[in-house]
Amino acid sequence: MKSILSVLILIFGTHQVHSHPKHSKYPTDWRTDEDAYESYRPKGKRTYSHQPKSRILKVYDSVFLKTKLSEFSGALPVKINGKEEYIKERESQAGKKLARAYLRDTLEGFGYKVREQAYSSKGTNLIADKEGDNPDQVVIVSAHMDSVGNAGADDDGSGVISAVSIMGALAKEKLKYSLRFVAFDEEEMGLVGSRAYAKSLDTNKEEVIGVFNLEMTAFNKRKDGAFHVIDCDRDDSVSLTKSIVRAVKDIKLPLVRTEACTDRSDHASFWDIEVPAVVISQNFFGGDSNPCYHRACDKVSDQLNFEYMSNITEAVGLSVKRAVMGTQ
Ligand SMILES: [Zn+2]
Repeated sequence: MKSILSVLILIFGTHQVHSHPKHSKYPTDWRTDEDAYESYRPKGKRTYSHQPKSRILKVYDSVFLKTKLSEFSGALPVKINGKEEYIKERESQAGKKLARAYLRDTLEGFGYKVREQAYSSKGTNLIADKEGDNPDQVVIVSAHMDSVGNAGADDDGSGVISAVSIMGALAKEKLKYSLRFVAFDEEEMGLVGSRAYAKSLDTNKEEVIGVFNLEMTAFNKRKDGAFHVIDCDRDDSVSLTKSIVRAVKDIKLPLVRTEACTDRSDHASFWDIEVPAVVISQNFFGGDSNPCYHRACDKVSDQLNFEYMSNITEAVGLSVKRAVMGTQ
């Protein structure tokens, strides 16, 4: 779909593009308008050299991601109810309660309406919502918040923080469809939280356009940018993969999709109820998975690659943005 800017260019010619945004009569901000750069293409093949390192919003910055992940996995303290705490693990009820409080604070800070879904005496999902113009159609960004008793920085603190950052980037947008974040509990016990959540959905009342589930986004030892978007060739879900691959290409991110198929994460709970879903992950099945997976050493360390995490977050973020704004 054409951006508003390029339509204006067609109508008024190109000189407006070169004027400083401050003096332009059109309300465009080049820092946040992802379509602004090279929105006008002259004949011939010239490529402009000052391409900004495109980031939709600063929340995808690797420093931001590292800070948030350090807080969510106990490397840095967090303030909860005025008290300094460390989220050392996310398996015990106390650890998960701290984690939920941290997510609630962050998401309410962005302006989202946050609620909890206690589906059993042990399990509680956390949900953040923003209504779109079509409130009964929703795009979901998700990740599991529990760990196997360890700090769980990569698994799946990274997925949670990627998802939270996407929510931050879209917080002020006017949305065509509703946007929802879900942090699932008890994924490590066998997708318990996401199954409970999927069961609670009334798909007659609400259409889920797609679920973008993030599962381990911060490890890339080979530094090759390989990552999975997994749809197992399901007819209802391949369009989500295509959208992410297109986003990678559009922003020229150094990422390469590698194929794999698994139902061992929360996306599968949506496949069970015929809802489009993909899981986005490091190249786990391509031989580049985190050796600290499910171990005590899964902490924020030099082993994690925040530039890679930021690239994945940005690709999924743009795809979510297009889905929720109805521009794809
Ligand atoms: Zn996991």
